[in-house]
Amino acid sequence: MASIVVLGSLNLDLVVTVPRLPQPGETVLGERFGSYPGGKGANQAVAAARLGGRVAMVGRVGSDSFGASLITNLELNGVDASDVAVDPDSPTGAALIFVEDGGQNMIAVASGANATVSPRDAQRAVARLAAGDLLVMQLEIPVAIIDQAVVAGRRAGAFVVLNAAPAQRLDPGRLRELDVLVVNEREAKAMTDPGNSPEAAAAALRAMGPRIAIVTLGPAGSLFCDEGGVHRVEPFQVQAVDSTGAGDAFLGALAVGLAGALPPQAAVRFANAAGAAATSSLGAQVALPRLDDLRRLFGVDLSSFAKA
Ligand code: ADP
Repeated sequence: MASIVVLGSLNLDLVVTVPRLPQPGETVLGERFGSYPGGKGANQAVAAARLGGRVAMVGRVGSDSFGASLITNLELNGVDASDVAVDPDSPTGAALIFVEDGGQNMIAVASGANATVSPRDAQRAVARLAAGDLLVMQLEIPVAIIDQAVVAGRRAGAFVVLNAAPAQRLDPGRLRELDVLVVNEREAKAMTDPGNSPEAAAAALRAMGPRIAIVTLGPAGSLFCDEGGVHRVEPFQVQAVDSTGAGDAFLGALAVGLAGALPPQAAVRFANAAGAAATSSLGAQVALPRLDDLRRLFGVDLSSFAKA
């Protein structure tokens, strides 16, 4: 199986549950506090490792206790974290999250060390890639670094996957070198035309240059557009309790499927299984499924998709 290198963000999510969200200037007494590893980069690295991928993470944390705990967490999940740099001058990225009874939330993210990911970090990521390996990125590190890594990754013969989240207007030239672009329905519309159907958005995204454009559709599954046109990929049925982490589970599984040489249709269906599984329990990273979970929930394995 090919290796997966994730170049991206690591955050600590600090979560307080409150009876209601505070107004400006107001203090509300909260109930529970919890801290959870997060950041789209780290979440996707963990998702891929839990599903059997050979995964390395490249990124930055601060030289504080948060950073150390995020590195330990990657290692506990089987991710090679030896290229996560410790930045002496920036704090670890953190997300401050209030969750109200009923689920409404309020989030502020301090990028911290994620904003200082540098050309050297991109070079370290690319140096890990052999021909046929996967480079997976998101938009929580500086876009200039992503540009550089896309070009260098392609030159190394890697398969380059960009999850264009959180939504951001991208220079169309940036998408031309990509093998796979993945966005959710909201992001797809923001990047094309808000009036577009998901099918039209996927086709419009592919016309911007990536070989395959994938749009995830929550409970409706996903669709992808390649040289043969737009294909719908059916969802797996679950009792969804919390959709947090579905997108990251999807990306991790997609990377594992592609690293295992599954054709796009099969890799996307495997990713649908992981996304659905992630919604069946609470939380982001803790809800990312293992192969055992996919077997228990849906009776499937990576090999079931190769045969399909
Ligand atoms: P994001 O979390 O980035 O908004 P989505 O909500 O589109 O992404 O979810 C990613 C994938 O997870 C979907 O393409 C789908 O396959 C799966 N998924 C998400 N929610 C459900 C659900 N309620 N039932 C079944 N599958 C789901």
